[in-house]
Amino acid sequence: SKTLRLILGDQLNHNHSWYKEEQENNIYLFMEMRQETDYVVHHIQKITAFFQSMRNFSQYLKERDYEVIYLQINDPDNKQDLESNLHFLLEKHNIEKFEYQLPDEYRLDEQLNRICKNLSIPSEAFDTEHFFTSRTELTKYYQGKKELTMEYFYRYMRKKYGILMLNAKDPEGGKWNFDKSNRQKWTGKDIIPHERGFRKDVADIVEEIKAAGIKTMGSIEAKNFNWPTSREDGLSALNYFCKNLLIHFGDYQDAMHTEEAFLFHSRLSFAMNSKMISPREVINSVLSYWHDHYDEIDISQVEGFVRQILGWREYMRGVYWKEMPDYSRKNKLNNRNSLPQFYWTANTKMSCLHHAIKQSLEKAYAHHIQRLMITGNFALLTHCNPDEVDAWYLGIYIDAIQWVEITNTRGMSQFADGGLVATKPYISSGSYINKMSNYCKNCHYDVKKKTGENSCPFNSLYWNFLDEKKEYFRENKRMKMMMSLLNKKPVKEMEEIRNRAFEVIQNPDHF
Ligand code: FAD
Ligand code: SF4
Repeated sequence: SKTLRLILGDQLNHNHSWYKEEQENNIYLFMEMRQETDYVVHHIQKITAFFQSMRNFSQYLKERDYEVIYLQINDPDNKQDLESNLHFLLEKHNIEKFEYQLPDEYRLDEQLNRICKNLSIPSEAFDTEHFFTSRTELTKYYQGKKELTMEYFYRYMRKKYGILMLNAKDPEGGKWNFDKSNRQKWTGKDIIPHERGFRKDVADIVEEIKAAGIKTMGSIEAKNFNWPTSREDGLSALNYFCKNLLIHFGDYQDAMHTEEAFLFHSRLSFAMNSKMISPREVINSVLSYWHDHYDEIDISQVEGFVRQILGWREYMRGVYWKEMPDYSRKNKLNNRNSLPQFYWTANTKMSCLHHAIKQSLEKAYAHHIQRLMITGNFALLTHCNPDEVDAWYLGIYIDAIQWVEITNTRGMSQFADGGLVATKPYISSGSYINKMSNYCKNCHYDVKKKTGENSCPFNSLYWNFLDEKKEYFRENKRMKMMMSLLNKKPVKEMEEIRNRAFEVIQNPDHF
């Protein structure tokens, strides 16, 4: 009797216990489907990276004599949706049991539940064996607590897994958080090592995607593709990070620069989100490298990195499963505007937005602060509809999978969940952008000016936002200082600010 085992595009975990069993009766199934390429418009590099990684993993299994069915995007047998493909294959191969790994997206979870309910053969779901936490662990942890503060969850995780701990309760280095020592602007003093590229030729897949007629965004250098698409690549990128980038990770975590897209960031999100490498091995490698280089690398760099993966990444997963499906409809600030056209072209005179978006279109990548404090900040300050903002983030980034995209976008960045994830909205005027980047240096606008013709749009938008939402944020303790500054603004100045902000909000593509 045969068992069909489904492997989704983000379930490329080589170390799963599935592959350690007796294999005689198992058939592994991979499918490139329009259902997955079309639920939002994706970046061409994202689709390419997923297809290439799926093909590489299926090849790895075949070479080890596992039985594999692989439906490529243009295969005449491919019905392009999960349910039809499954019905066809279950019948064709006389399958007696269907098995799958729990999907990380609500959409697929529902679909698989529904499909399995109607199958005439037994089915079984398995854990993906990737995350530190189960889907419901965070929900249990926060039971009876008022706020979902990430910090406490992170400490609980540190203790539970004994990561960066002196003993059962004291953190290594005497503090849980070294955030204050992070956050420098990058001025060229510390040399950024050259990019760890992979320079792959993926022209064939790109042709196939085009031939299939899939609509995509962004550009690709098909003969020079630089994302990890195998476990080997992922491990090599991890190794490169430990050796070359960890040393300044924390220092420049929030820095932005016109000429440097990656700075000291790891670019491991795709390899991790597709599960080619696991968060455990990422953290273990970083800790082990640090232990061998104690004198060179400060704990603040290491803690800053561990926090992102053991803290934020697991936290976002937990919030997603706690709050879905309602989360995807949240719009607490009732924002209704459309995203400006320049989000798809980078065609704007605002240097920060131009660079962050151009880079995203060319590389399918922007680091956290570019996503949060440039594109996200502008979308929130101009009252963009979180549905549109979500669709953009879900499409454009190589690492965008809904469980981690929506919690970051709708929650952390757009405050559409009313402050579940972020205790205050992540907004800023031009001065923060100027402090952390070189964007303002050659900008058409003057970062020092709040109003008037060439004033930086972020300045008026920022004060206008606080003014418009002041009732909503009246009770928010973390906003007190800004609100009292707002209240001190002369009436005349506020009027000019409102007028300038109105111009930008009315016609952002003009700026
Ligand atoms: P590094 O800076 O090197 O960080 C290391 C790792 O930490 C990342 O690979 C990632 O796995 C994890 N991490 C860091 N920050 C976060 C975070 N806030 N939430 C969860 N994990 C985190 N990340 C995604 O993986 N997919 C997304 O779709 C996504 N969408 C985002 C949308 C917005 C609006 C914002 C503000 C952030 C988003 N992030 C998303 C989080 C973060 O920006 C990316 O994980 C990071 O930029 C990936 O690049 P890196 O691997 O070089 O990260
Ligand atoms: Fe952005 Fe304003 Fe700076 Fe221009 S001046 S780069 S618009 S923050």
